[in-house]
Amino acid sequence: MSLSLGIDFGTSGARAIAIDSSRNIIAEVHYPFTNANFQDWQKALFYLLDNLGDSVRSELKSIAINGTSSTVLLCDNWGNPLSEAILYNDARGIAFLEAIKAIAPPHHPVISATSSLAKLLWWSEQEIFSQARYFLSQADWLAFLLHGKLGISDYHNALKLGYDLENLCYPDWLENLPMFNLLPQIFPPGTAIDTIKPDLVTRFAIPKDCLIYTGTTDSIAAFLASGANSLGDAVTSLGSTLVLKLLSSQKVDNSNYGIYSHRLGNLWLTGGASNTGGAVLKKFFSHEELRNYSLAIDGQKESHLDYYPLLKAGERFPINDPFLPAKLTPRPDNPLEFLHGLLESIARIEALGYQRLQELGANKLERVYSAGGGAKNPTWRIIRQRHLGVPVLLSQQDQAAYGTALLAQQSVTLLK
Ligand code: ADP
Repeated sequence: MSLSLGIDFGTSGARAIAIDSSRNIIAEVHYPFTNANFQDWQKALFYLLDNLGDSVRSELKSIAINGTSSTVLLCDNWGNPLSEAILYNDARGIAFLEAIKAIAPPHHPVISATSSLAKLLWWSEQEIFSQARYFLSQADWLAFLLHGKLGISDYHNALKLGYDLENLCYPDWLENLPMFNLLPQIFPPGTAIDTIKPDLVTRFAIPKDCLIYTGTTDSIAAFLASGANSLGDAVTSLGSTLVLKLLSSQKVDNSNYGIYSHRLGNLWLTGGASNTGGAVLKKFFSHEELRNYSLAIDGQKESHLDYYPLLKAGERFPINDPFLPAKLTPRPDNPLEFLHGLLESIARIEALGYQRLQELGANKLERVYSAGGGAKNPTWRIIRQRHLGVPVLLSQQDQAAYGTALLAQQSVTLLK
């Protein structure tokens, strides 16, 4: 048996999934964490390898790792982090937004307070910066722990650094920066970099020819896991927020709406994220209520309650209005009716989101896979299908680690 291992570093924990050549899951290990930084990630990585079991480890032929997008580290010449990593949602780079706007093309994804580039510029003004030799993303650093090579990344993790995904090179406006020498060399996701380090072969009894591949980001890994693989296929993530991704032949970037495109082989994965979603449902209903009330709702019937469910004012996609107020009235006395109105309204926002992506140039929507906590709600699926007008399916697998295992196995056909 030869096995491939995908390792996901998400916001609430790390997970490893090993698959066989028929894509069956052979082993799965989870390590929960909150507010973790590089010391915890290293511990988590070795915990996962330790707990896979001897028989799984002895059959490993490939490993890839995904991290959260724009979680970054500044390292010395030997790969030691010079300070705590800056996490994906840390907006300390806001002071550098104007400087970025002055050099980057309009609507570029680096124009954001949380972009990797904004974090690099913030670091460039700190005292430790003089010792810096490598600027890496979380997935790059964790892969380095396995293969020992520094200064290597993939074009998914490099998007918010400013790498030119069309021409597959760094643009002049980045090359001209004084700190350009810290940036990694970029490879396609799923590129073999080297075999696993000899000390790990000894420590974990992993075959010495096990290859370590470049990784991806957690949300792309979840897309790869879903089964979506042709033009017009989309994945909606119904988690705390509502995140849409649509596979397209056309690249779409619009920083006003927070829309950007990742490259997937010769295609583009266009996407946007709305602030509506499950977090609002959770505010009004328990898990059991969501399940039981939903089952009692007739999804074929339209609720005419027209809400814009938000936890706080402000929205970017599909409506760009930083002051957009939440609309949660009129609230009927019957909780079933209220929930029906909420599910219907979020479905309308989802449909508007796909409409927006298509208006801006993405391919016609053909099929929507669903992932996240709300995906398993059958009533919602019926409601969403009514608004989307295309088949709404459940993702085949919804763990990012599974998508990253496919990447390690070299079986993501879109990347060939
Ligand atoms: P996160 O984005 O935080 O990782 P998950 O993907 O785990 O979230 O999804 C959690 C969300 O799913 C919660 O906000 C919850 O409201 C929503 N959810 C859970 N069960 C249901 C359900 N039966 N119907 C609709 N939404 C649900």
